[in-house]
Order: sequence, then C-alpha cells, then structure tokens
Amino acid sequence: MAPPLPPAYFLPRALLAEGWARDVLLTCRPDGRIATVAAGMACPPGAVRLPGAALPGLANLHSHAHQRAIAGLGEAAGPGNAGPGNAGPGAAGDSFWSWREAMYRAVAALDPPLFEAVAAQLYVEMLKSGFTTVAEFHYLHHAPDGRPYADPAEMSLRVLAAAATAGIGLTLLPVLYAAGGFGGAPAGPGQRRFVHDIDGFLRLLARLRALTQPAGGQPDGALPGVVLGVAPHSLRAVPPEALAALLAAAPDGPVHIHVAEQPREVADCLAQTGQRPVEWLLAHARPDARWCLVHATHMTGAETAALAASGAVAGLCPTTEANLGDGIFPAEAFLAAGGRFGIGSDSHISVSPVEELRWLEYAQRLATGRRAVLAGGPGRSTGRALFDAALAGGTAASGHGPAGLVAGGRADIVVLDTSHPLLLARDGDALLDSWIFAGNAPLVRHVVAAGRHVVADFRHAAEAAVARRFAAAMTTLAE
Ligand SMILES: [Zn+2]
Repeated sequence: MAPPLPPAYFLPRALLAEGWARDVLLTCRPDGRIATVAAGMACPPGAVRLPGAALPGLANLHSHAHQRAIAGLGEAAGPGNAGPGNAGPGAAGDSFWSWREAMYRAVAALDPPLFEAVAAQLYVEMLKSGFTTVAEFHYLHHAPDGRPYADPAEMSLRVLAAAATAGIGLTLLPVLYAAGGFGGAPAGPGQRRFVHDIDGFLRLLARLRALTQPAGGQPDGALPGVVLGVAPHSLRAVPPEALAALLAAAPDGPVHIHVAEQPREVADCLAQTGQRPVEWLLAHARPDARWCLVHATHMTGAETAALAASGAVAGLCPTTEANLGDGIFPAEAFLAAGGRFGIGSDSHISVSPVEELRWLEYAQRLATGRRAVLAGGPGRSTGRALFDAALAGGTAASGHGPAGLVAGGRADIVVLDTSHPLLLARDGDALLDSWIFAGNAPLVRHVVAAGRHVVADFRHAAEAAVARRFAAAMTTLAE
C-alpha cells in the first residue's frame, strides 16, 4: 500500500514552471498536493533526495484498462485480409472494426476480480513509465450476460481499487453507451456489458458521486483527490437526446468523448445528421475547456480551427491510432490555431509517454517530409514543446490542475536516470529530447504520485504482488 508522506523532496535538477532549476526543495500537503517549491535550497535532514532530472508527472488522459489484457493479440491477419498490393485505404480486410470484434470477444470473460487484477498491473506500468494520473474511460459496467451487477457500480469500484493499489491519480469517467450505432441502433451482443438507458446511467453517476465526493469535503479513501467526470462514448453510441440529458446532469467536471476516429464514422454521421462528427459536436454541444475530444483524427481545416478556438483538449493516442490504422491528427494546424492536446495510451498497445509523444511528432514528419514539426519555432526543443503541451493539456482535461511543479499542483514527480548511457552529458531541454526520441530503455528511476514515493530505483512498491495477481488472471483468461 501507499507509503506515508515524507516531509519533503530534494531535487538536484528539476523542470519547474519557470524553467530548469537546481537544488529544488519541494514540500507536500497532506492531500498530496505541493505546499511549497523553491530552488537554490540546501537539502535539510529528513528530506528524500531524488538524484537525476525531475519532471512533473504526465497525465494519461485516455485509458480502457480492460484492453490491457489483449494488448498485442490483434496482430494476426484475419480471413478478409487481402494481402500486399490488394488492399488500398477503405478496402475490406483488417481494420479498426475487425479489431473491435476481437476485443469484444476477449473481454467477455473479464469478471470483477480479473478486471481489477488487469487494471492494477496496467496502472503500475503507467507509473513506471512516467504517467502519474490516468483518466479511465470506463464502459465495462455489467456482467458478461449484460445484466447489472448487484451493485451497479461494481466494475467502477474495481477501477478505484486498482488505482488505489498502484497509487496513481485517477479521473474516473463512467461511460454512457446508449446505442449500438448512429440513429439509435440497438446494441449488439458484444456491447451488452456497456449499455445503459439514461436513467440507469444517472443512478450510477449518483452512486459514484457519493463514493468519490462525499458531502462535507474530501473523499476519505486511500486515494486522494479522485476526479469524477462523465464520458458520452461517441456520437454513434449516444443519440442527441441522451447527450443533452447527460450534460444537464453533469454541469461541471471533465467531459470526454470519442470523436471522428474513423472515416466510416464520419460518413455515418454525415449520412445521419448532414454534419461531420466534430462539426456536429461543436454546433450542438458547444464543447469548452472542460471537454476532451478523443482522437478527433478526421477534421476539415475549419473543424480544426474551430476545435482549437473552443478551448477543448484534443485527446491524442498516437500508438493506438497507428495500431488501428485510424489516420493522422492534423497536429500542426491545430497547434498553429492555438489548440491544446494531451496524450493517452488508450488500448495500451504501448504504455509509455515516450512512445506517444515520439509518434505524435514522427507521424507529422512522415506526412510532411520535415523535421521538428511541432517544436513551435526556431531554436525550440521538440521534446520540450511536446512535453509542455501534453502536461498542460492532459492535466487540464483530467481535472487535476494546476499543471506542473507549482504550489497547489499535485505532487507528481518523475525522475529520469541521468546516469544512464542514453542521458549522459545531457542537460536542460536536451534531456527531454533524448528521453523522448532516444529513450529506448526504461529511464524513469523514481516516481512520486500525490506526494508518495511509489517507484524507487525503478521498482514499484507493490509490483511483485500486482504482477502475481495479473499472471493468475491472464492464465485464467487464456483457459
Ligand atoms: Zn478509446
């Protein structure tokens, strides 16, 4: 379980809001947030010294924990695969949609204890990679036969328990999945674990609110500061009336939605509404700074500019989007228009901020034939620009603000091992460039989450026990 809060951390090198600093002393409040942070200090007795390069922890703003159980299992070509030279874009063959059917089959066996074991393993992996919070877009609500559990919040409670075991900050996003497709199509058998009518969903939301935000103050659980938001799954799964009812019942807190991930989804939305998904959402739901539009891959130039102007965060999941063949987010135009983004590991084909940020930039390079596309101007570090943007956007979208190592922010610190050959003789922003573009070995040596030293010298305090439960769960699932 989480170790007690130490009185202070001493960071010989740290990235603060004002830039790189030396000899930083950081003290924590009992709620896991930063009380004070000051550079040029001596290390007092009792402070925990964390040598290396200290960064603020990053938010993972999009996760489906159950998909960790099938990471890497969707790579064998299916019977419709046309083979090299025969399958242009849009041709029949393996696609997001065939992967989704495989995912539905695989998760049918996940009962609550197995799900918790998978989620705890995932959250430990996230912390060890440098993510200190996770926004769990949680739609696996019901039993495999589609009936609600005796406690309708059973599976959500497993998310809370897994996050508490790992010590990761949590934004819980219960997902409303009201239909199987555009036009209110009924859910298929593979979707019956996900589906609520609006009244059933609002009862779940009320229960989760009582659990995470008890009247009279802070939640008293082992996990400080759980943020509760809502997630209409997508425009295909949430008809307009249901979306309006959901938003009326959730007047504050984060709102996350999948949108415009696939060309077929755009075509279906156009056929149904006469508008593209992002266009429809901007016109009818008026997303603002508390919204996160996940993927938003397929946008026109006008949609890209309008989304940037809305203040909503684009939730980018570059490794999953690459793995599923989704397409390339128009990041350069979006950033040029002042847009905000964060990163998520989504399907968990990779659990690493390094890979998400690297592939975000690399996709732009491959598409444009240029380098340092997202650096933001002459002389600027690409790694620093990507890190700063993902930190600010991810923290905002997760509702954990303020971002960074500042008083009042979450005491989330990730310390890179500067004695590793990949980081030797690196300083300042070159540390971020080398971590993100050359960090092909684990370089996260220490992690502090909500003030607790959860990863020390590359090891998570609970990793052995969590890995044992995960191994047993995977054996059961493979039977
Ligand atoms: Zn997703």
